[in-house]
Amino acid sequence: MNVSDSHHHYTPAQRKRMKAQVLQALARLRDRFPLQARIETAPEPVRAEYGRILRQWRDGESPPQAARCDPELLEALVNLDAVVVQGEGLGCYPFSAEATTFVVRGTEGETKVHAFCAFDALAIPRLLGRHCRIESACASCGRGRYFEVHGNGGLSEQAVHDTVVVWAQDHAAGSPAGSCRSLCPNIRFMCSSCGGWSRDTVLTLAQATAVANAFFAFQLRLAGADGSVAIEGAGT
Ligand SMILES: [Zn+2]
Repeated sequence: MNVSDSHHHYTPAQRKRMKAQVLQALARLRDRFPLQARIETAPEPVRAEYGRILRQWRDGESPPQAARCDPELLEALVNLDAVVVQGEGLGCYPFSAEATTFVVRGTEGETKVHAFCAFDALAIPRLLGRHCRIESACASCGRGRYFEVHGNGGLSEQAVHDTVVVWAQDHAAGSPAGSCRSLCPNIRFMCSSCGGWSRDTVLTLAQATAVANAFFAFQLRLAGADGSVAIEGAGT
């Protein structure tokens, strides 16, 4: 869905260029953080534990806890940088157990989670299957950035052209410190007017949402859109 783009009348050449930018950003993201490849080549028990942690993020009321995981499987997931041990529980991209400046709130009910970065925030509504409001702030001027994303991953039709995603230069491909510390701090929301001056990669919200949904799509298959996917005998 490109709902937000329906407001703009792009020429075919512009559309082609915008699509190329999406594919380029997605390739760069997968290069810097090959999460899907790491999970898909991990041993089956590790994948199953990962699916269990993801489902808990989706269905639980609080972050998954290390104490409830198989220690060896958890260690394997941490070594893959798929799961992050945090003070409040287990972070699992795109979900952060600790508070961040990226808040994703269900528009019906009490759902409120934090994301590690702008792409993470944009991916969460589809992973939860819930219409959500994203609440963040411009990384440059600090003004609040608010918009809604449907449960199918499409942007809501409200004005979303006043916000962009800016991906600042990052140098290290992967880092022992973990992507949440090396990569995520570089991927933030800005006002369009603030981001327009940036020399870094600037994506429209529609472009960034396409990147985010594609990057995390493998989690839907793994965790099961309705939680019914058979990953039996996983964990405790
Ligand atoms: Zn700003």
